[in-house]
Order: sequence, then C-alpha cells, then structure tokens
Amino acid sequence: MLAMLLIGGRMSPYGCSSAAVITVLPELLRGLQDWWVIGLRTHSARHSGVCSPGFPGPAPATRRAPQDGSSGKGRGGGVNTIELKGITKIFGGLAAVSSLDLTVAKGEIHGLIGPNGSGKSTTLNLISGQYIPTSGQILLGGRDITRVPPAERTVLGIARTFQNIRLFRRLSVLDNVMVSRYCRTRSGLVPVFLRLPSERREEAQAREAALAALRVVDMDGRADALPGDLPYGQQRLVEIARALATDPQVLMLDEPAAGMNPTEKRDLQLLIARLNREHQLTILLVEHDMDLVMAACGRLTVLNFGAKIGEGSAYEVRANPDVIEAYLGSEEAVGA
Ligand code: ADP
Ligand code: MG
Repeated sequence: MLAMLLIGGRMSPYGCSSAAVITVLPELLRGLQDWWVIGLRTHSARHSGVCSPGFPGPAPATRRAPQDGSSGKGRGGGVNTIELKGITKIFGGLAAVSSLDLTVAKGEIHGLIGPNGSGKSTTLNLISGQYIPTSGQILLGGRDITRVPPAERTVLGIARTFQNIRLFRRLSVLDNVMVSRYCRTRSGLVPVFLRLPSERREEAQAREAALAALRVVDMDGRADALPGDLPYGQQRLVEIARALATDPQVLMLDEPAAGMNPTEKRDLQLLIARLNREHQLTILLVEHDMDLVMAACGRLTVLNFGAKIGEGSAYEVRANPDVIEAYLGSEEAVGA
C-alpha cells in the first residue's frame, strides 16, 4: 500500500495506475521466480574465474600430492593446507569450539573425532563458512578465509557432506549432483534464457562432470532415481558425489558411515583411500565408527567439549589417557 501511494501520489489519479502496476507486475514476472538462483550462479562464476571442464579422473602419478604438507600448488596457486588458529565459536553462553589449533596438511586423511557434542560438526561448519568464528583465523593455503562466504570457499576448493543428509528431495540423483557443478560454470542469465549454444554446451559438460562424479562413488546406475528411494548409505554416496562435482581440493565428510552396513562401510573406506590417492584430495573425516577412522586416517585430532585433547597417529591417540577418559566418560570405546 505504501509503495502504491509513493509511486502514484496520494491525491493523484495516477495512484490508481500505480496500484495496477504493483498488482499486475508480480503476476507478469511470476514465470521468472525460479530464476533468481541464476543470478547467484552468475555471481559466483564471475568470482571464480575458473571453468574446468569436468570432475577430473584419476590424475597421472606425476600429479601425486606430497604427503608432508610442505609443498605443492593447488588450483589458483594456493597450497590446499587448512589451518585453524585459535578458533573459538560461542553459541549463547556455550563454547562449541574453543581455542582450537588444527592443521590439515595437503594430501593427508585427517580424522576429527570426539564424543557427541564435542564440536566436530561446528568445526566443519567453520571451515566451510556456514559459521563465522567468534575469534581466531582460518587459512587455506596460507590465505585468510575466515570471513570468505561459503559459496566462494567452494570455488576455492573446499567441499563437504552433511551429518544430516541434505539432498534435494524432488530432484533426481543426477540433478542433485549437477546443481553443485554450477559453481564451475560461467553462463549468465541471457544465454541461459535463450538457450544459446554456449550454454547448452556448458550444460552438457556439467552433466558429464556430474555423471563422472557419480561414477567415482559407483552410483551412476541410479542417476535417475529420487534420493528418497535410495537407502541411507547410498544417499551419503550421492552427497559425496555432489561434493566431488565441485572439483574440490579439500573434502570434508561429516559422519559419512552413519546408516551404512558393514559392507558399505568397507567400500567407503576404500573410496576415501582412492579419493585421496588417485584424486589428490585432502580429506577431513568426522566419524563415529572407530574402526573406519583408525583404518582410514593418517592423523587424528580429538575434541572434547570443544577443546583439543589429543592429536597424532591412531596409535598415539589410542594410548592418550585424556582421550581414553573422554571416551570412557561417554561410554564409547576408542577403537574397540
Ligand atoms: P558434534 O558434531 O561433535 O557432535 P556439534 O559441533 O554439532 O557437536 O555441537 C557442539 C556443541 O555446540 C553442542 O553442544 C551443540 O548443541 C552446540 N551447537 C552446535 N551448533 C549450534 C547452533 N547453531 N546453535 C547453538 N548451539 C549449537
Ligand atoms: Mg556432528
């Protein structure tokens, strides 16, 4: 009503026509309401300046990432080591993460474990940008990304899955994975609307990349299924494929084995090793299944009440008295 008065004028007959415009305009533009996302997509593509042709297959051995975290350039010239320096995240009065120093070196599979509520998911949310830390600094390859928005972090090469599966229920498996691929495409609003050849080519490439990512997790056979029709274990694989389709350097997995049977867990362990070895992915794994964590991870960080209480190899962490106490306190065994 206010807009009508402002546009038309309170005492003028044009007030009437402004009312007509304001009523009719949304109707006329209704067909466009689904397209606002394209604006975001164009925006992030412009920021990225990157358009790789698809999820890369296994890289040649010469591209093998070093294990020591000391060298090696990732996309955009950055080294993909993640460093958290004195990170604290406070919710109300509760420090979900407190003064955490954590380094995930390029090329490693790093486990992040701890009892329920110890701050593992919050840590992933801080690295992916869903949360901004109360204090502290997050670096990716030496670059400060503490305040970089989540979408830009994806473009920089950080991908993740969620503890509570977050797939689009009404999109097919393939579409779910293609959605994430749009962070690497460039087509703006006009080419998309007009279905220009460049846009169609890009769409086909996105489809190929999404299929390639599904192939990596052995889910390409279910590309047309709806996520709800798949068992939990397979939905988690689709989430991994969606993360892979962003063409990441760092992959963060939040309890990927939850809901998986023993066979699926073993396959997951092999998949994680393969992603690290053949696709040069640095992996940060949050997981409750201790057998999986101990077998998959080179190094572990243990949280309790948001603070780091242990760090080192699986062997060192298992023998750490603070870790044993934290787990016994919550009646969970370390590497039973
Ligand atoms: P974990 O993943 O280790 O089980 P979380 O990181 O999810 O633990 O949670 C750590 C603590 O922070 C918990 O006490 C949780 O209730 C709290 N927490 C997490 N996210 C929020 C939030 N968005 N708002 C308030 N409290 C939160
Ligand atoms: Mg969690």
